[in-house]
Amino acid sequence: MGTENLLAGKRVLVFGVANERSIAWGISQAMHAAGARLAFTYLNEALERRVRPLAEGIGSELILPCDVTNEAQVREVFRAVQEAWGGLDILIHAVAFANKEDLEGRFVDTSRDGYLKAIEISAYSLVALAREAEPLMKENGGSIITLSYYGAEKVVPNYNVMGVAKAALEASVRYLAADLGPSAIRVNAISAGPIKTLAASGIRGFRGMLGIAEEKAPLRRNVTQADVAGAALFLCSDLGAGVTGETIYVDAGYNIMGM
Ligand code: NAD
Repeated sequence: MGTENLLAGKRVLVFGVANERSIAWGISQAMHAAGARLAFTYLNEALERRVRPLAEGIGSELILPCDVTNEAQVREVFRAVQEAWGGLDILIHAVAFANKEDLEGRFVDTSRDGYLKAIEISAYSLVALAREAEPLMKENGGSIITLSYYGAEKVVPNYNVMGVAKAALEASVRYLAADLGPSAIRVNAISAGPIKTLAASGIRGFRGMLGIAEEKAPLRRNVTQADVAGAALFLCSDLGAGVTGETIYVDAGYNIMGM
């Protein structure tokens, strides 16, 4: 099916592109192809060197620094978007972080600092960004999506504190959807199967996860950035107009299997 005009003229702000493998980059390319205008943020100068050429390659007008733990930077991003575009239609949140030592071994050994850091960057940031987006989306409604993983629901070895952060993220999606729904702002999560990215490489035994997913998933394969992007297009376009507060699995069916 052609998607050329699905998001014609829509203004999209993307958090979470690190490189061309990023899930957020797959979503961005699909939204660009669907007629959207995109703005990007990057975490730091090292990543700016990766993100800027990608963003400029699809004609991005706004490329801004943003560490989601820096409130001033977050505010400045939304101020700049409001100034340039006079509003916002779609927000992509594809940001997560946990200390490497917290993504291996026993969850019970997670430090206070590691726990709070994972929750702050991976879950609270959605709340902070949604709060800033609300006034920019209020006039015409909008759509916010975030990325989650099965480890939010079930114990996945080594995913540990990130599973707890994703559980908080998915619950935050529901509470945000309830708050923002009256302003026609929809909030949803996509729970993606494992995909080889920079963030994924921080999880011990990630290659094994890819192998197991491929073997056990009903579709007998792993998902791609394009698979996730397809669901993002659905959720953020009028096709998903009646959907909010959901966590939608894009995992080749892995999560439905009992044994
Ligand atoms: P990625 O490394 O490409 O993206 C993670 C992004 O988070 C990076 O762009 C990084 O700069 C950003 N980030 C980290 N700390 C930040 C901070 N303090 N401020 C702003 N940005 C920060 O990896 P990805 O796999 O594309 O991850 C995107 C999202 O998808 C994450 O939420 C991840 O948990 C989720 N996810 C990934 C998989 C997978 O297997 N790759 C599966 C399910 C869900």
